[in-house]
Amino acid sequence: MKSDIIIIGGGMAGAAAAISAKEKGADVTLIRKGYGSTALSSGAFDILDTKKDVNSLNKRHPYRIAGEKNFNLFKSSLNNFLKDIKAEGIQIDGAVTKGATLISIAGVFKDTNLCQHSICEGRLSGLKDAKILFFGIKGFAGFNPKQCCGLFKEANENNNLLIKKIDYRFIDFPGHEGETFPSPFILAMRLDDESVLEKFVSVVKKTARKNGYTHFGFPPILGLRKANAAVTALEDSTDCKVFELLPHLPSIPGYRLQMSLDRLLNKKGVTVLIGDVNMAAIKDKRIESVSVKTRNGILNIQARSFILATGRWAGGKAVKKNGIYEPIFNLPIYEKERIAEIKNVADYLDSYVLESHPLLSVGIRVNSRLQPLNDEDDIAYKNLFAAGAILGGYNYLTDQCGLGVAFLTGHLAGKYAGEG
Ligand SMILES: Cc1cc2nc3c(=O)[nH]c(=O)nc-3n(C[C@H](O)[C@H](O)[C@H](O)COP(=O)(O)OP(=O)(O)OC[C@H]3O[C@@H](n4cnc5c(N)ncnc54)[C@H](O)[C@@H]3O)c2cc1C
Repeated sequence: MKSDIIIIGGGMAGAAAAISAKEKGADVTLIRKGYGSTALSSGAFDILDTKKDVNSLNKRHPYRIAGEKNFNLFKSSLNNFLKDIKAEGIQIDGAVTKGATLISIAGVFKDTNLCQHSICEGRLSGLKDAKILFFGIKGFAGFNPKQCCGLFKEANENNNLLIKKIDYRFIDFPGHEGETFPSPFILAMRLDDESVLEKFVSVVKKTARKNGYTHFGFPPILGLRKANAAVTALEDSTDCKVFELLPHLPSIPGYRLQMSLDRLLNKKGVTVLIGDVNMAAIKDKRIESVSVKTRNGILNIQARSFILATGRWAGGKAVKKNGIYEPIFNLPIYEKERIAEIKNVADYLDSYVLESHPLLSVGIRVNSRLQPLNDEDDIAYKNLFAAGAILGGYNYLTDQCGLGVAFLTGHLAGKYAGEG
């Protein structure tokens, strides 16, 4: 089997790479063994902490490596992507340079840049003078509205957020009264059904009648595919603004994002293959083919260029005498300025705070064209590019840039590989 470009990994980085390589006219095959962090993420699209600018980041940060000029291309490439993905049923609102603070199901806050439309009305900046009612679902332990309310009320008082009222109610999930729901997916899938949604809307309407609420907050269960339709139906019949809270794991908004990426890849004509890439054939510093373990046996696929987008933890590791290596192409994984080693767990737990925890920024090194480097800091292979969380040098939590780095580096890697 042959393709112009092979992408290994099907999260945000792999998908962005596939789309931009396809735009260059290449024949693209994307191989993934499953879902990674993109499907686990909260659905908030972090690009960069608005208090930071690109030049203030660590010199190994992928935004710095890609260069300021490329970072400034973010806006136009992201806008095109947001238009495409909206057509696949997921609307993402916000702006690259704008910050938004959202409420999580625990009642605490998270700063981000863009977020799914169904979550957007929960932006703190729009809640001044609001009267908010949170809905818990009886039998669903994944959201405790009492705890959420308690912490949120405390934050309202301590930070003078000027929210007028915060309260909660439990409702039955219509047609399933007295049942327990171990997973949010059960509820979200049911709410994609129009007749169930209609009954749900009428329960919400009845419960919240005549209390002057302006906003209704829900756990993130308002549909796996049709969350926007659920928000519109609830808003139309209650005259209140409706929003989902940010999830913990498992994440319905993360899964929604991943499913929309899958649909978009299909629409763009990218061939998607499910399998585990476990080996590469190499000649004269060029990758000739990769070997993929699929359900139907081993496949060898040749290509002109390859893009590695296997994620930070999802891709596994190979442990050698002198440190940790990426398992398919044998690339060294760096922890700050040296190759990472397996240490005692206690070394990692000792006095680290999130700010400096080495495990949060480990990964491979690349040059400015996103070509991975070997132990000698030379280009490892002439036709390999890398993107997303496999890259080291940044901490997606403290820099607030998880999906942003995956998108931008994916977009650029696809462009470079597509240009040949
Ligand atoms: C719990 C959690 C919450 C997060 N929340 C946020 C958030 O709110 N906002 C934000 O911006 N970022 C968030 N992040 C970070 C963000 O999700 C990631 O940085 C981003 O999704 C990484 O995308 P990726 O495409 O590089 O990797 P992934 O999405 O992890 O994709 C890796 C892909 O590689 C495939 N793969 C791996 N090895 C192989 C192999 N050998 N063969 C074939 N396929 C392979 C996997 O199956 C998968 O498809 C969160 C991360 C986590 C873990």
